[in-house]
Amino acid sequence: MSDSFRYPQGFKLEQESSKVFLPKIGWVKYRNSRQVIGDVKNMTISRKGGYWYVSIQTEYETELKRHSSTSMIGVDMGVTRFATLSGGSYVESLNSFRKLSKKLAFEQHKLSKKVRFSANWKKQKQIITRLHERIANARLDFLHKTSTEISKNHAMVVVENLKIGNMSKSAKGSVEKHGKNVKAKSGLNKSILDQGWGMFLSFLEYKQACSGGDVLKVNPQYTSQTCPRCQHVSRDNRKSQSAFECTECGFKANADLVGALNVLERGHRLLACGVETLVSSKKQEPVGSSNTNLLLTA
Ligand SMILES: [Zn+2]
Repeated sequence: MSDSFRYPQGFKLEQESSKVFLPKIGWVKYRNSRQVIGDVKNMTISRKGGYWYVSIQTEYETELKRHSSTSMIGVDMGVTRFATLSGGSYVESLNSFRKLSKKLAFEQHKLSKKVRFSANWKKQKQIITRLHERIANARLDFLHKTSTEISKNHAMVVVENLKIGNMSKSAKGSVEKHGKNVKAKSGLNKSILDQGWGMFLSFLEYKQACSGGDVLKVNPQYTSQTCPRCQHVSRDNRKSQSAFECTECGFKANADLVGALNVLERGHRLLACGVETLVSSKKQEPVGSSNTNLLLTA
């Protein structure tokens, strides 16, 4: 479904005439969607949805900037709400993935009824490829908009240090031990992957690095069970998936907001005294790199 190959050398880029020279292929025109900045390190050619793309990786010197805002915010990542900010606002999950996934399953079923490699089969295969593209584009668009919005407004963004890779592995690895949990867990993992938390965090990190801000990662343990007012920790504080009510002091709030407030509090503690169980993100370096995707047209 997708082919790709990389040129480490021998290529040329002519931006004025929107052409790339590819060894053994020659000069190829591309659709100029954005300026390529910096020294070209390599080019990767790939095919997606019937189109060919060239991805150009570059490196460039960049100044260390100071973020235009001085605000610090905590972010809680969830399933029903994609992200809840400690200021009280939140970003709803993108449900279109679900709808598109259903449509994908339906179209794949139709494909299975067709004679392999027949004209109708090829037509159907094309529909599926386009659908994969739509899902990927909708996800990218959502993650870019959300990360840009947060990065633009806050110099310091505190997030939970989620081991996303481990979370999806644990559902597969525990089939024998917890037969019942696996289905629910896979469902949760599916939504984690659907929503691309990992991708979101990497977007947020590079956007913060570009604008002179930073991302702090803090220990996620008990962020949903700790009272932000009196610090009392108990599973009973959590009345339901969405409701938090402290059994000590009676503090009530949305559970995701409580998570975000605790994440922010841990960020403040990390900055104040560098509590060792908390993990900070890498310091930014004065060398940037960039990936530009361009559509090949001929
Ligand atoms: Zn309390």
